[in-house]
Amino acid sequence: MAEFCDVALAVPLDMAFTYRVPNGAIPTIGARVLVPFRQQRMMGIVLEVHDRKPDLVTRNILSVVDSAPVLDDRLLRLGRWISDYYLAPIGEVFRSMLPLVAEFKRIVGYRITERGTMALHLAGMSGSSARSQRTPEEQAVEFRVLDYLAALGDGFVREQSLRQATGASRDILVNMARKKWIAREDVSAQQDATRTVRVAMLKSAEGKLNSNQQTIIETMAAAGGKIPVDALQSLEVPRSTLGTLVRRGMVELMEEPADFTISRSKPRGTPFEFEFNQSQKNALACLLEKVESRRFSGMLLHGVTGSGKTAVYLAGMRSILEAGRSAILLVPEIGLTPAVAADLHQIFGDEVAILHSALSDRERADQWHRIKRGEARMVVGTRSAVFAPVADLALIIVDEEHDGSYKQEETPRYHARDVAVMRAKMSDAVVVLGSATPSLESYFNAKKSKYALIELPDRVERRPLPEVEIVDMRVEFQETGHEQVISRKLSEEIQQRLARKEQVMVLLNRRGYSPVVLCRTCGKKLECKNCAIALTHHKREHKMVCHYCGYIAPVPKSCVQCGSEYVYFLGTGSEKLEELLHSMFPQARIARLDRDTVRGHEDFERTLNALNEGELDLIVGTQMIAKGHDIHGVTLVGVVGADVALGLPDFRAAERTFQLLTQVAGRAGRGQSPGKVILQTYFQDHYAVQYAARHDFVGFYEKELRFRSWMHYPPYSALANVLVRSGNLDDALTWSGSIGKWFDQTRHEGVRVLGPAAAPIMRLKRDYRYHFVLKSPSREKLNGTLRAMLGYAAKEKIPRTQIVVDVDAVWLM
Ligand SMILES: [Zn+2]
Ligand SMILES: [Zn+2]
Repeated sequence: MAEFCDVALAVPLDMAFTYRVPNGAIPTIGARVLVPFRQQRMMGIVLEVHDRKPDLVTRNILSVVDSAPVLDDRLLRLGRWISDYYLAPIGEVFRSMLPLVAEFKRIVGYRITERGTMALHLAGMSGSSARSQRTPEEQAVEFRVLDYLAALGDGFVREQSLRQATGASRDILVNMARKKWIAREDVSAQQDATRTVRVAMLKSAEGKLNSNQQTIIETMAAAGGKIPVDALQSLEVPRSTLGTLVRRGMVELMEEPADFTISRSKPRGTPFEFEFNQSQKNALACLLEKVESRRFSGMLLHGVTGSGKTAVYLAGMRSILEAGRSAILLVPEIGLTPAVAADLHQIFGDEVAILHSALSDRERADQWHRIKRGEARMVVGTRSAVFAPVADLALIIVDEEHDGSYKQEETPRYHARDVAVMRAKMSDAVVVLGSATPSLESYFNAKKSKYALIELPDRVERRPLPEVEIVDMRVEFQETGHEQVISRKLSEEIQQRLARKEQVMVLLNRRGYSPVVLCRTCGKKLECKNCAIALTHHKREHKMVCHYCGYIAPVPKSCVQCGSEYVYFLGTGSEKLEELLHSMFPQARIARLDRDTVRGHEDFERTLNALNEGELDLIVGTQMIAKGHDIHGVTLVGVVGADVALGLPDFRAAERTFQLLTQVAGRAGRGQSPGKVILQTYFQDHYAVQYAARHDFVGFYEKELRFRSWMHYPPYSALANVLVRSGNLDDALTWSGSIGKWFDQTRHEGVRVLGPAAAPIMRLKRDYRYHFVLKSPSREKLNGTLRAMLGYAAKEKIPRTQIVVDVDAVWLM
């Protein structure tokens, strides 16, 4: 008779917890249960039901939440694999896999008990009791808490609000709960409301119209008959016109869930051309053949920029939908714009679920349930969409598989590409990794025949790849005698494009106005209060900002250290570059795309639309402009300072630079006119720059692979970064020293340990940081060592949350 169950809880502990099952309430494996944990109630996932009596006293589960599992067998197995592979607490893994935050979130609060009500009355009558060891101040606070709660009757109030209202410390509340004056509870979060937008629907276009009415009707018809009311306000038409049309019954207004389905952009005619060239046909045939076999297999689709990879993905997915099976398409964060969503809806109708970051928790949960019920079998989304609960999974596609946004930079630190491969393996499905610049790991695997390698060597319609010209900025400096931001060559080429009414993109992968503020008298650099990072000057917003923690400081008029007035603002960010280009080309219409000008997908799309419509001549931006956009009018791409990363102490710097240069170069010449790229660099001999200029992925790959092999870096070794952090420098030093000593003494054969060393960013968000880099040709040995290290750290009482284990780390900073 099963009496116990093991439950995974979202707490930072590497274990599951055993509870007793009250009679008759046998929960299903993979379902959620509500359990007591310390002083709280928590939701957890049932991992196992058994009758092995644990040594410790067990508490009862409080209730069974789901009658059917929320995670099926395969997803449970996938979760265990992630927990094992990335050394992440199992409960935290499941929390990431289930976008049911609204149902999962802990809200802790209090309500008053009968005893508390009595204590309140007594306090009012007789003052303090003689036995009390509390100070009068503490008693006053307790009185305030009771009084506040009593006023709510039986009501529950969040801990945070209660403390704000009464000034009570956490200790005082805990102490009051111990005396049973108040009851501590946690309830699931209130579900947040669905966001809505006001939409106008075209009902009929018959009848006489004046020109204003005509404009509105035509705009709506062009947008497919449905348009957000906001979008109509940009038309130069009196506001009353819409009202008139509504009264005449030609237009209807309604509220709709704010969704990606309605694009503010004009429809792109026929959205997707499924007219394929031979390479595309071959790729699709290969994909479908593998899907048919219903066995696991992996494919690397290596297609140059503009070769039509997306069309292959969508055609593949359409076939799978017709066969009644399911598919998941993962895209990088920035790839999911409303226009892309509109295309997807056009192709897949209601069968597509789009999971993007603008969804509220409630909307995310709704989408999850839709997928789980089988109403949406095509899933498109960013990183966590890899966990979508589809049935009969046939295909997972990872678009731009090299993109860094697939790695989650918080626990569990999984890489969605690798999870996608594992999920496909566990589901006998096909996984397709696509990129113009595959990661070294994926290409290496393809070369070793772990994946089939499919090439799309040509751009669609045989458009040529752009010509790349390198400008050596050291020579530019010698010849002009100035540190130039825009070289003479780039300036000249921009001028020519503007004269021909063609469009230009300039990449500078650094936002803000000036990245460094320096005192010329004493040499003091203005740094963040919380991080060992220079503050960046943002001119328009008139402030100094830390790009790592968000700390804001006033713009200094004099040196904070010596008071000198010789404070210099050095270097150029995208804001300054935009200003510079305005002064160089005053007649040009210029816009900027970076995280300061783009707050959401819509800002991003608005600017790209303006570019597409020919309303802009020149666009400046960070790497945001490099990613996968199909703008046909751009014939020149200028690259300014994209090689800064080459100076960073990170073994992936060359790979990242090569990818960025190739991707941004790929924005040029996607239309009728051929493109050109001017690549300004201080590292003109660096192989990442040279191979990118020649569009030579294989050349770069082979060279980089040799370097990785010599240095025992991935893909030749498994690598993990172990970061020890604390707000207290002594703790960070002591803990990392102690772990370092343990590594030395325990000698793990086949595992190299480097460190402890100060992390390249030694202080971040108030934490001091020391790290170790572990490398091993054997993943088992690497993970064994990490597990043993965590065991040692637990024994030494080093808090688990202060040790970050990052397996397959993408950033070593
Ligand atoms: Zn100074
Ligand atoms: Zn900071």
